[in-house]
Amino acid sequence: MEDVDVSDLWDCSQEEWDDWRWQLANSITTAGELKEKFNISDQQVKQIEEAREIFPMSITPYYASLIDFDQELCPIRLQAVPQKAELEQSKYEMDDPLHEEEDSPVSGLTHRYPDRVLLMVTNKCSMFCRHCTRKRKVGDGESRVDLEQIKKGIEYIKDNPQIRDVLLSGGDPLLLDLDILEEVISELKDIPHVEIVRLGSRVPVVLPQRINDELVNRLKKYSPLWINTHFNHKKEVTPRAKEALNKLADNGFPLGNQTVLLRNVNDCPLVMKELMHELVKNRIRPYYLYQCDLSRGIEHFRTSVSTGIEIIESLIGHTSGFAVPRYVVDAPGGGGKIPITPNYLVSNSRRKTVLRNYEGDIVVYTEPEIKEDNCPEECNVCTENKEKAANGEAVEPSGVQKLLSEDTKEFSL
Ligand SMILES: *Cc1c(COP(=O)(O)O)cnc(C)c1O
Ligand code: SF4
Repeated sequence: MEDVDVSDLWDCSQEEWDDWRWQLANSITTAGELKEKFNISDQQVKQIEEAREIFPMSITPYYASLIDFDQELCPIRLQAVPQKAELEQSKYEMDDPLHEEEDSPVSGLTHRYPDRVLLMVTNKCSMFCRHCTRKRKVGDGESRVDLEQIKKGIEYIKDNPQIRDVLLSGGDPLLLDLDILEEVISELKDIPHVEIVRLGSRVPVVLPQRINDELVNRLKKYSPLWINTHFNHKKEVTPRAKEALNKLADNGFPLGNQTVLLRNVNDCPLVMKELMHELVKNRIRPYYLYQCDLSRGIEHFRTSVSTGIEIIESLIGHTSGFAVPRYVVDAPGGGGKIPITPNYLVSNSRRKTVLRNYEGDIVVYTEPEIKEDNCPEECNVCTENKEKAANGEAVEPSGVQKLLSEDTKEFSL
């Protein structure tokens, strides 16, 4: 393991630096505090102060120590330090672009997909990311989540047997008091129809000190507990972050990563590929690459969709399949995540499908002569699923999947 040193900008002991509570207690929340540590101009101070009036700032000393103020487009600074651009209004911005509140049968729970739900367990974050989609909620004292509300969410999950996957979100679930987090996870794991519990956390990126032995030992009992983290740039995968990731992987937590495509941070095929390689080297499977949402105050981070397609074009075939995330647009208005890839299907006829590969070669795949539309006699998965669906324990084929089914006579949705 590489040595992890306390930053020379902070006057503290190694023990303090390694203590996540010290990190949180010493988070930078004003431009004045930033100026004490870094060489920033009075004009920058003024702009930071103006912007943080609207969207508060909070940066852990650990994450702040990675900022390079001499670099104009430091990816760490762009994600952590408020910019004047956040105050600009854009025509299409929304407070809740994903309609998380509209798809919410009980407060703090979003039921968008039939078999899985998003459960907000806290609105605290270890850092306020400047590109956060939930800017309206994070760190806002008024939209606090309390145990009472979480319990109502758990009741809803109990009452809906088709829910097999629960995603804990926030805020950052790994900032919750461990007694509460354990209680929530163990209650969920006790529900017979809940097959998967997972959580999304930025702690490994901005507060790796939180991934300590106590946390790991208390949570590993609930295996499998999937953890999706949020690295956006290779520079974030520091020796200290790697130590936290190793601890999680060694203790059996399956790890995924969700990257947000951000202008000037990672909107380049080569920068993105470096990040993906760094992730898989550390046993993290890239999961999603998100197109930036239409939230208020993040217009300056948005890129065109073509940027994302070019990035995926540069990954598929050019690197290991498991180093390629799925690129998605989270549909404004609450349509869910929509996958986008470059086109590989060139054309097809009844007997042949023409495809192109990553190198641009055109190939043909000849379809089988046997018609495949009859299911084997002995298979009864359909009938069983229909019975379960009638009792609310499973979901029936829906959407375009339903249109493709031999069973349906409908011709549109
Ligand atoms: C992203 C998301 C999920 C989980 O979707 P997966 O594609 O299974 O990762 C569930 N509910 C909501 C509201 C989401 O935004
Ligand atoms: S950790 Fe996630 S929820 Fe919290 S501020 Fe960052 S992006 Fe938003």
